[in-house]
Amino acid sequence: MTSTFTATVLGSPRIGPNRELKKAVESYWAGGLDAEALDSVARDLRRQTWIGLRNAGVDSVPVNTFSYYDHVLDTAAMLGALPERVAEIGDDLHRYFAAARGNATVPPLEMTKWFDTNYHYLVPEISPSTMFALNPSKVLRELEEALALGIPARPVVVGPVTFLLLSKSVGSDAPLLERLDEIVPLYADLLALLADAGAEWVQIDEPALVADRTEDEIASTKRAYDQLSAIQARPAILVASYFGSLGEVLPALASSDVDGLAVDLVAGSDSLASVPGLERKHVVAGIVDGRNIWRTDLDRASTELAALAGHVGSLAVSTSCSLLHVPYTLDGETDLDDTLRSWLAFGAEKVLEVVVLGRAMTGGDESVTDEFTSARAAAATRNTDPRLRDTAVRSRLEALTASDPGRGPAAQRREAQSALALPLLPTTTLGSYPQTSRIRLARAALRKGEIDETDYVNRMRAEISDVVALQEKLDLDVLVHGEPERNDMVQYFAEQLDGFVATTNGWVQSYGTRCVRPPILYGDVRRPNPMTIEWITFAQSLTRRPVKGMLTGPVTILAWSFVRDDQPLADSANQVALAIRDETVDLQQAGIRIIQVDEPALRELLPLRSADQQAYLDWAVGAFRLATSGVADSTQIHTHLCYSEFGDVIEAIANLDADVTSIEAARSHMEVLGDLNAVGFDLGVGPGVYDIHSPRVPGVEEITGLLTEALNAVPAERLWVNPDCGLKTRTPSEVEASLGNLVQAAKLMRAKLQK
Ligand code: GLN
Ligand code: ZN
Repeated sequence: MTSTFTATVLGSPRIGPNRELKKAVESYWAGGLDAEALDSVARDLRRQTWIGLRNAGVDSVPVNTFSYYDHVLDTAAMLGALPERVAEIGDDLHRYFAAARGNATVPPLEMTKWFDTNYHYLVPEISPSTMFALNPSKVLRELEEALALGIPARPVVVGPVTFLLLSKSVGSDAPLLERLDEIVPLYADLLALLADAGAEWVQIDEPALVADRTEDEIASTKRAYDQLSAIQARPAILVASYFGSLGEVLPALASSDVDGLAVDLVAGSDSLASVPGLERKHVVAGIVDGRNIWRTDLDRASTELAALAGHVGSLAVSTSCSLLHVPYTLDGETDLDDTLRSWLAFGAEKVLEVVVLGRAMTGGDESVTDEFTSARAAAATRNTDPRLRDTAVRSRLEALTASDPGRGPAAQRREAQSALALPLLPTTTLGSYPQTSRIRLARAALRKGEIDETDYVNRMRAEISDVVALQEKLDLDVLVHGEPERNDMVQYFAEQLDGFVATTNGWVQSYGTRCVRPPILYGDVRRPNPMTIEWITFAQSLTRRPVKGMLTGPVTILAWSFVRDDQPLADSANQVALAIRDETVDLQQAGIRIIQVDEPALRELLPLRSADQQAYLDWAVGAFRLATSGVADSTQIHTHLCYSEFGDVIEAIANLDADVTSIEAARSHMEVLGDLNAVGFDLGVGPGVYDIHSPRVPGVEEITGLLTEALNAVPAERLWVNPDCGLKTRTPSEVEASLGNLVQAAKLMRAKLQK
């Protein structure tokens, strides 16, 4: 058998330690950099990544984990499966970016969440006319580059099963997995080419195998890997799973002839003891969490590895998944206090943990003793840090969850809210107005100390005044302040809550060139001061119409942060909920009569296995209700969700029990309203009638058409009129024209209804 390895990672971040790739790609789009210059930035980043890994002691280095935009799109390109509408674009890079982002004439591929992470991949479209063909140039080139540098390179590709399961079938109802027979031979060709080029190992990623799979799917998977293993001249095959347990798939793969299996020991709970076949496999143990930022408990990890060693052919230490999901390094994080910092490990630090564990495992290496001692010392300070336990918060929560009567029944609330005196089909927007460069410049100036806090507040107030005046002019019914003061709907709150800390340079890729900087939740959550009251009451002081208070919900705040790993997520959610609840009570106290608590990430955290879903939905709904049940029945609670395909979460949405729920619908033609009816939903609903993801201005007739459709499913008394989502990414002129049409359409419909 081929030689094995002991320390590796499943993939690396690729945006560049200082977002060099993001900047280069955006500059290429804007015409600043040419393709050659872009390529040279990319090559430098790859080299830095590989050399960093090798020098740290990683003895098998993943390559082809680099991407200009997305690795699923790269796989589609590798398999000749880009959509037909871009096929005519001659230039490779233009074609690739057209598939990713669209251009003047073609729409892009859809984008969706990569499993339960906050990374988004592009969904390949596969139709009966898709003619798969291997295009191995990217992976071969990266392999050659790495080998030329003397890197022990292990090419990584998305596997055939995952590729098909994540793709969207266009123009056919047959399950896409039936196309496996067409693409497995291409993978076979690829393996031969990689062996020729000098690869000893190849990593084939199959994360789709950690979700519920049917017997047929498991059998097809086994067959595909038997075929690939049967090839004579090929690299050793490592099938990589991550984000959960392999379950039933584990014995199937263990009994196949693949050479290695990567198993997620952090998110998964597979038992590797006495699985027939595993005693012949190279098992890559994902024991360093690739998705969160906590330092690994080296003692525990070592013990676990030692226990595994007897059950498998050979063992390597690894991260649980690609390091794509964590920031590059703690190096730049000088604002963190030393204690807190000592609890953390970002990408580079995780690589060192993997190497240290590998050395400890192979034994006889005294040099790692210090690392163990220092990890132990850090863990000890974390266990006893007073910031981790706020007894006041905990006892308040306990008392509340035991005795919270919740809100009154919906009918009673409706009655109490009639004092709002809203017209039929009330019009509103969902929070943000365009984040103009003027707003961003003011924020940057404050950060750099060029303007002071008072100056900043005045500038933001001027923005709020403009937005309120615009809404009055447009004659909207329920106004918002426009959120100019918020850099991000999660970070804004995290920065003001105890228990969270922000990073300086902790960027991770969200999609394409878009990066986010998730805050870190490390301790008990407390709200030292009100967070939004001054802005909202200022807006309310400018108008007699109701202004909505805008808050982010507990589930979304957690979904877009790095969360603590020392207590159940449900407990953290309740603590955040308590802080949001206090804010709603203060808003009410300050005279605000409508409050929106956004939960766009509710569906994103849904566990991959159906057996785990109900428990999640229970606590997620519970946290939302805790956050929103502190106010009187006369205060109207809204929520906003950023999608229209509710599927598994539809009942949960009804259970949120918000007085008004706004959802995305402009593209999906109101079908979702019927789904909501089917679960007995009878509260207010605002299906989006203006698709804010597109620069298009919807006409009055188009909007009345959508409203007519909506009225087929929902009585007028429950229907709200609003866009799909916040307006922050649109331009002021698009927004003004679109909302003008939206208000006019609502008025036309009202007149019709009152006839
Ligand atoms: N209130 C937020 C906004 O309008 C909601 C954004 C979102 O749903 N992602 O920007
Ligand atoms: Zn939204």
